[in-house]
Amino acid sequence: MASNRKSQEPAGGGFERPGIFRPPSERNSYFLPLTRGCSNSTCTFCGLYGAKLRMRAVAEARQEIDALALFMKHGLRIPEIDHVVYAVAQQWDGRRVFLQDGDALVYPHPGLVEVLRHLNEKFPDLERIGTYATPQDILRRTREELIALREQKLSILYVGVESGDDEVLLRIRKGVDHDQIVAAGRKAKEAGLVLSLTVILGLGGVGGSRRHVLETARVLSEIDPEYVGALTLTLVPGTPLWEDWKQGTF
Ligand code: SF4
Repeated sequence: MASNRKSQEPAGGGFERPGIFRPPSERNSYFLPLTRGCSNSTCTFCGLYGAKLRMRAVAEARQEIDALALFMKHGLRIPEIDHVVYAVAQQWDGRRVFLQDGDALVYPHPGLVEVLRHLNEKFPDLERIGTYATPQDILRRTREELIALREQKLSILYVGVESGDDEVLLRIRKGVDHDQIVAAGRKAKEAGLVLSLTVILGLGGVGGSRRHVLETARVLSEIDPEYVGALTLTLVPGTPLWEDWKQGTF
């Protein structure tokens, strides 16, 4: 996540639809928000640093799915429904759904299963459902829970690994170390979930570059995911890493 979204936090504490941040491969998906922000808003390079996690009510998500089905099947619009729903629906190919926001896998299991079931009931021909997830989200789930999600077509997880180097992971406050990332990745794979991981080039700084690269290669080899994306570090104004860079300590 590169942009800074802290300023968009709703003043009243209610659920406000997040902006659309998604993996490139989800460009044709329907974007269904279940959360806003991220449960691990400590990563020092991320635009979600410090953002509070908000959960959307299951009933509200179900209502959006109903409205989406009405629109896709009959072209009907409900005035009370956010216009974004219809703007996204008009470009949707009907095959994939991406659950927002920073880590929708943190959503409580019973509610998540209910939303997925409802999606499948309304759109039985869905190919797959995807979401961002943190390693912590995966580790918190039981194997049976992950399998239950896969059976409801939540079959691909996009996970920001960032680095395999424990020193880097500690400094960026990722909240997990190398071994925990490997454990999370293997657990997801064993449950039959497809993994798309991202790492960030440059996160080791100049001095730590070699170790960052080697340890990151090692973490990826140990997990052996289906997909890996190597992103280039973008310094986001307002984040701690941006401050470090300005002060010359990174
Ligand atoms: S877990 Fe991901 S989305 Fe959340 S703060 Fe860290 S990098 Fe950002």
